[in-house]
Amino acid sequence: MIKSHLLYQLSYRGRRVRILQSKLAMIKQVWRRPAQSGKMSQTGDAVVDGVRHFAYAAVILVFLDLLDFLLSFPSLVSSAAMPFIETSSSPVVLRLNRDLVRMIKRGHPWVYADALRELPSAPAGQQALLLDNRKGQPVARGFYDPGCPVALRICETDPDVKLDDRWAERRFRAAKALRKSFAAGGSTAAATPSSTGVGLTSGFRLWNGEGDGVPGLVADVYHDTGVIKLDGEGPIGFWRVDEVADWMVRELGLVRVYERQKERGVMGRALIGSVPNQPVTFHEHDLPFTADVVHGQKTGFFLDQRDNRQLIRAWSRDATVLNVFSYTGGFSVAAGAGGASHVTSVDIAPAAIEAANQHWRLNQLPETQHTGIAADAFEFLADAASQRRRWEIVILDPPSFAPNRDSVPKALAAYQNVIEAGARVTAPQGLLAVASCSSHIDLPMFLECCEEGVSRARRRGTVVTIAGQPTDHPTPLALPEFRYLKFVLLRLD
Ligand code: SAH
Repeated sequence: MIKSHLLYQLSYRGRRVRILQSKLAMIKQVWRRPAQSGKMSQTGDAVVDGVRHFAYAAVILVFLDLLDFLLSFPSLVSSAAMPFIETSSSPVVLRLNRDLVRMIKRGHPWVYADALRELPSAPAGQQALLLDNRKGQPVARGFYDPGCPVALRICETDPDVKLDDRWAERRFRAAKALRKSFAAGGSTAAATPSSTGVGLTSGFRLWNGEGDGVPGLVADVYHDTGVIKLDGEGPIGFWRVDEVADWMVRELGLVRVYERQKERGVMGRALIGSVPNQPVTFHEHDLPFTADVVHGQKTGFFLDQRDNRQLIRAWSRDATVLNVFSYTGGFSVAAGAGGASHVTSVDIAPAAIEAANQHWRLNQLPETQHTGIAADAFEFLADAASQRRRWEIVILDPPSFAPNRDSVPKALAAYQNVIEAGARVTAPQGLLAVASCSSHIDLPMFLECCEEGVSRARRRGTVVTIAGQPTDHPTPLALPEFRYLKFVLLRLD
């Protein structure tokens, strides 16, 4: 890692040395020519003097260049010389039309277009300086997207701090420090978590956008592969994704970095290395999994459920487990590793079920103890209930039912229905685990859905625990929308 960084720095400096060499050679030529030409006329002498003055000036310029070159050496260690963000033009100045200063200083990282006095035309991703609505004092710095409802994403609440590579590097390093317990790219850190009983985990989120102070920049790591996803035009204009990918390779020892597009179905591209032609293998708490970073959901795996899978693993000894909306079987394998007597995985996507079966085999769990079923969850649960089938642990992790605010009432009804159906197939004294990843539905609303669904199934529930996102999905304290994941473990009587 350090070696590749040094090589990069040396080749960059090698280029500068060659430029300096050629400048010096030119000056030498100019210097020598008059001396070699012998007898001169008076006008000839004046010309020589002129050339000499020109050469003096050139020597001074080259000297300054040399000085600048030598002063750049401290970055051999800090690597702060690389452009990670857009800095080519001066910041666009934006002005608030209402007093949001307190909210911004408390760390809310978004300013909506309707809170700005005007929306000057500027390219998405251009740096912006925000002024308050009263005296026009600088409040914060960030980047702008006039075409987005969130017109300004704030990067710095101290307007005196310049947004440059050093700023970006500070944020990158702070995020990396928060991921100390994870191991990427076969790094030796891998030995540490296992020895502390945490279990080798080489699939993790490195940057969680606003939660890591890097607005709109999301990156996941799967062992030696990085996946970057930029959240819209503003982040696309602001972050220089190729340089950011370079940093990931240097700092984490990755071999490839792939960029996923935000829109579903739009192909991504390889930023470094080749496009992976098969799912990449990584570990989660010592369990091997694969992630299809090119075609899979999210960046290939639901890393945000890691801690909740551990929770299920701890409860699964000798239990029969039903994992509904299983995707590639993350919860199923966790339950199997925890000693479940049998696990059933249900997902509407046959490819997901195929991957769940493969993950079960990859973990060398007994073939007979897993059944993968490609089916609609609602139909499966209704059939199972009518056949009076019961499981000791039932997990429901549906896709987001509320993609926007308008869909909230429908989504609440859908959650109630699925929880009711799940409660009907949960054994007496069994556990029902339900998750919601809709940011528009908060925890109190979701707990109400649980209560409604469970009582419609004529059961009563006890809250065993309430959980959410793991530590590699940090969120700004002032931005509750970012804490989208809710995971409620109930015991039903
Ligand atoms: N629990 C999973 C993630 C679940 S994502 C994990 O930890 O990896 C939600 C899943 O629900 C997706 O795989 C999707 O294919 C599936 N799904 C969506 N609608 C469905 C339906 N009607 N019936 C069954 N599965 C469905």
